[in-house]
Amino acid sequence: MSSLKIIEVNVVSTGKAIVHCSFCNGGGGVPTNYARESQKPCPVCGGQGKALVEFEEETFIECAYCRGGGGVPTNYARESQKPCPTCFGLGIKPIAGNWQIIK
Ligand SMILES: [Zn+2]
Ligand SMILES: [Zn+2]
Repeated sequence: MSSLKIIEVNVVSTGKAIVHCSFCNGGGGVPTNYARESQKPCPVCGGQGKALVEFEEETFIECAYCRGGGGVPTNYARESQKPCPTCFGLGIKPIAGNWQIIK
């Protein structure tokens, strides 16, 4: 069994943090290997490349379900992946407690 990686996030205030979007790998569009102009905004972060999340427990870990990639199934090409239902596509999540993307 592999241990989950602890991920540093940019905590902006109590219970809020800005996290890198793994679904688009911070680029804002999917798939990331397409020209920027032909991409649609990332459905996870709305094209921002990062997202503001609200959380209860501070420690963030790599999402085991998508293995940090943000998309499932992980062995599919980027363009046929869906955002991970466990981490909403961000690739990381708080170790415990409720949380959500707020923008
Ligand atoms: Zn994104
Ligand atoms: Zn995930």
